[in-house]
Amino acid sequence: MKEIFLAKEGEIALKGLNKKTFENVLMKNIRYALSEYEGVNVHRAQSVIYIQVADESRYNAAYDRLTKVFGINALCRAALCEKDFDVIKTAAVDYIRGKTAGVRTFKVEAKRADKKFPLDSPAISRELGGYILEQIPHLSVDVHKPDLTVNIEIREEHCYIHTGNVQAAGGLPVGTSGYALGLLSGGIDSPVALYMIAKRGVKTATVHFEAPPYTSERAKLKVISLAQKIAAYNGGMRFFCVPFTEIQEKLRDGLSAVGEDGYFTIIMRRLMLSIAERIAEKEGFDALITGESIGQVASQTMGALTCTNVCEIPVFRPLIGMDKSEIVKISERIDTFETSSLPYEDCCTVFTPKHPRTHPKRDIAEKLQADINFGEMIEAAVKNTEIIHIKAES
Ligand code: ATP
Ligand code: MG
Repeated sequence: MKEIFLAKEGEIALKGLNKKTFENVLMKNIRYALSEYEGVNVHRAQSVIYIQVADESRYNAAYDRLTKVFGINALCRAALCEKDFDVIKTAAVDYIRGKTAGVRTFKVEAKRADKKFPLDSPAISRELGGYILEQIPHLSVDVHKPDLTVNIEIREEHCYIHTGNVQAAGGLPVGTSGYALGLLSGGIDSPVALYMIAKRGVKTATVHFEAPPYTSERAKLKVISLAQKIAAYNGGMRFFCVPFTEIQEKLRDGLSAVGEDGYFTIIMRRLMLSIAERIAEKEGFDALITGESIGQVASQTMGALTCTNVCEIPVFRPLIGMDKSEIVKISERIDTFETSSLPYEDCCTVFTPKHPRTHPKRDIAEKLQADINFGEMIEAAVKNTEIIHIKAES
């Protein structure tokens, strides 16, 4: 049976004069998400986007991809048939037969957008309801609280049969809200932070700090695999990998020499943000993203966040007011949790001080950093940054 996906827009509908621009980006993103498949047809009519894929064996995979396209609020998988009532009856029964396990009651809801169709909506519901009762005898009708609703939509070109919408990715089409560079570690939080900002229509790239040989190749591959999962929502992205070993060693030794090891993580974070900001300026990103949340660890207390507030460009911290359990829930939903939980080391944890400062002072952090004098090391780190092109996980 031929299937079609109907995508319903969400927030775009509120966009007034700009609506067309948002819709065009959404159409482009849908085509990109399905670009590996042959015979894809995408068109829009009255705020519904109709998406067809020629190869039936790709329906499930294509549907999965569409659930990750921001800007689509609800998705519906419908059977498509000719506008002939006998054809519709047979197609409807075929379509719902596989969906009736555990289902006892149903109702038919008909919508006749094409007024030239000979039966009106109540007649379609009545006639088709009777036919379904005959063909699938274990079902009975319940018009108030049915287990299954069979929707029949008679539109201009075809009849669509479906059993309702499912909630899709929501948000705004990626590419309609500017560019941001997300600091991606291998942890649970930062992939969720990037996902949340991408959801608001921001095209994101990632920057990762590595410290070989303290951090392994496997740790880097883990972060790349997280980036691939985010790319499924984001439409492919660049991954900037910054060599951080020398800077970290110099910081460790410099602080140890003056007995201030407790400032290690704070100053490391300041350096990360400064380097990320330099990359953002060079590559045309308007903002940074981190996965920080107030009080989650010593380097995210109010005092620590004040000390690490070193950027001129905005730093978005979408998780700032969220509990860990809320963040974990999202990471499970977007399928990053398992990968994030792999036990590989991050450069942050390599030199973690025994007693990190929980009430650090900004002026002290600034002075310690200036005394160690990272000078040209920051420029060198930017210059030696490796750029990898990440494709969506398929
Ligand atoms: P996450 O789960 O995202 O690693 P976390 O709770 O472990 O967060 P920290 O390790 O303190 O928190 O890191 C805070 C933020 O700094 C991270 O959310 C991330 O944005 C950034 N960050 C940490 N380590 C790295 C790294 N190696 N490369 C890039 N960004 C990093
Ligand atoms: Mg971390």
